[in-house]
Amino acid sequence: MKVALIKPQGFCSGVTRAVKLAKQAREEHPNKNIYILGMLAHNQSLIDDLNKKGFITLEGNEEENIKSLKEDDILIFTAHGHDEKLDNLAKAKGLVTYDATCFKVKDNLQKIKKEIENGHQVIYIGQSGHKETNASLSVSRNVSLYDTKLLFNYYLITDSSPFVINQTTLNYYELSKYHDDIKSNIPGARIENEICNATRLRQEAVLKIDDDTDLIIIVGHKISSNSNKLFEIASKSFPKALTLMVNNLEELKSYNISDKKKAALGSGASTPQYIVDEIYKYLTNV
Ligand code: SF4
Repeated sequence: MKVALIKPQGFCSGVTRAVKLAKQAREEHPNKNIYILGMLAHNQSLIDDLNKKGFITLEGNEEENIKSLKEDDILIFTAHGHDEKLDNLAKAKGLVTYDATCFKVKDNLQKIKKEIENGHQVIYIGQSGHKETNASLSVSRNVSLYDTKLLFNYYLITDSSPFVINQTTLNYYELSKYHDDIKSNIPGARIENEICNATRLRQEAVLKIDDDTDLIIIVGHKISSNSNKLFEIASKSFPKALTLMVNNLEELKSYNISDKKKAALGSGASTPQYIVDEIYKYLTNV
């Protein structure tokens, strides 16, 4: 089968940094348990690889998890950002912490904080329950979630010029739809597009897939927002092709793709490159 790679691929800068930081923590504390407060980045294979190296991924309630650790334990905060009160809790427990929050997310959290300090309300466009959304909402009660799946309650906003910001991994091509809605309800809203470059470039590349492609594969985890968006954009833009999102080669093998002639292969920003390479090798031999 002919296979075109949808580039860029590999970890984005935020995930690369998070993985490096985990490595650094291990080097600096070779004999200690190192805990990660949730998935370091949203890819199960990456988490499995980390767990094999002795990292312990904590699932469930973050506050309770921190409380359960002991003084001098090592804790890594994930790439998606977190509530500042968790920093204080970790400090009070005497934990040694590493913060893997992506710089882009950190920057957005700072912008939100500044707007709140200046007395403005903030409308945050994002996905309910996503860690980055939770971190952004935790800044203040004056940050309101514009859930991309629900109608927004404009009665929450009394500020005539609220600040509007978004989760970094949303669909670049749908964001303007939400902005238009907000502008038509609050003309004075100050809007910033904060989709990160890693997300935008991957989405742009999907739109450049050749029209005669009959198989599109996005390698990524179902919890990964940016992988899901690549899948969504590919499925909508190329309805004649079979579009699949898979975690790894084993999952791909469960589909019958024997009649396909031309594939395009892309991956989310948290997908390890070796998985994409394995799939590429497999496809070129089908
Ligand atoms: S996808 Fe974007 S925001 Fe998320 S970790 Fe990567 S660079 Fe940072």
